[in-house]
Amino acid sequence: MVGSDSGAALPTAPGAWLGVLGGGQLGRMFCQSAQALGYRVAVLDPAESSPAGAVADRHIRAAYDDPQALDTLGSLCAAVTTEFENVPADSLRRLAGLCRTAPAGDSVAIAQDRLAEKAYLQASGVPVAAHAAVSQASDLDVCPASLFPGILKTARLGYDGKGQVRVSSREQALQAFESLRGAACVLEALQPLDYEISVVVARGLDGRTVTYPPSRNAHRDGILAVSTVDGTIDPAVADRARRHALRIADHLDYHGVLCVEFFVLRDGAVIANEMAPRPHNSGHYTQDGCLVSQFEQQARIMAGLPLGMTDPLCPSAMLNLLGDLWFDPDGRLREPDWAGVLSVPGTRLHLYAKSQARPGRKMGHVNILGATAAELHARVARVAGALGLSDA
Ligand code: ATP
Ligand code: MG
Repeated sequence: MVGSDSGAALPTAPGAWLGVLGGGQLGRMFCQSAQALGYRVAVLDPAESSPAGAVADRHIRAAYDDPQALDTLGSLCAAVTTEFENVPADSLRRLAGLCRTAPAGDSVAIAQDRLAEKAYLQASGVPVAAHAAVSQASDLDVCPASLFPGILKTARLGYDGKGQVRVSSREQALQAFESLRGAACVLEALQPLDYEISVVVARGLDGRTVTYPPSRNAHRDGILAVSTVDGTIDPAVADRARRHALRIADHLDYHGVLCVEFFVLRDGAVIANEMAPRPHNSGHYTQDGCLVSQFEQQARIMAGLPLGMTDPLCPSAMLNLLGDLWFDPDGRLREPDWAGVLSVPGTRLHLYAKSQARPGRKMGHVNILGATAAELHARVARVAGALGLSDA
């Protein structure tokens, strides 16, 4: 099936090749899920060794915009996806001429630019924070006073809280804009957050959709620390977030797995923060907390197979393992106490086999299940204790 992603396509039989742009942990877990379904997987990534490259059946080592490498990948594979949103959209567009691409380059392009993303979210009928584009210093003179206090964010390439500065006045915003070296930015009004949630939605080639239960997300130093699905999100809020996520995917005629981060405000309003056109860290709980994971949905969509069940099996949580855990208080390398973690019932360990631990680097995660929310929280506390984390 060349050059089309039409819903009428026959499923691609196991044994065929599925490809992924990017060699990180999301690509690794996609490969593992696709292989469990019997597909062969190819990874395109420039690094000599990478988490996904290590498990792929084939590693095409080249830049993401290398036309020859893209053509090799597109000719080999029945379908190609991406594991990160900053892959050049043109690479996906080129691949679309050779094989099925899910998501499409145009969908990924929107998620690469916070301004395009916000405009798109609003056009889908989903509320976002009040904001203004700041492409030059003088834009700050005319933006509404209601945007302060606010957060100035670079429009492109921000992640894990990088490329953003909290500002309480125009003067501070100007300084922040200069510190970001004049990169195109968006100034967003600071929202009165109650808590943060995200929804993973999977949309097939035939337009069918499923959503996972929202996870409640806690960050530490701007990086996701824990995602919890324990039934404590107000059902009306959870329902609104799932409906928003569906609207976003439908409006875009999206094919693939998409995650939408939401802010739940103190008055109960649910507004979209940003979206990721791929499986998401906050959706890792689905590997053990649901029958079919977000990564398996990605593979099923690419293969034109039916989507799987998303109901939670029981309360669950995901605890991120950052490189900091590999260092003792004196800065010496150590191995975290895996036996201690795995001796807690209901735990599963997922490590990404990264060659070197660095503070802040995502090295793996632990999924934790409990029969009740209380049991889950007791187990999370025990895992955190085994890892030496005080406040998980
Ligand atoms: P990531 O890609 O890791 O999700 P990011 O760098 O793209 O993060 P955002 O998700 O936009 O950045 O923001 C990071 C965090 O900062 C949010 O999860 C939230 O806690 C806080 N934050 C961002 N924007 C706002 C806002 N307008 N009001 C209040 N808090 C905010
Ligand atoms: Mg975010």
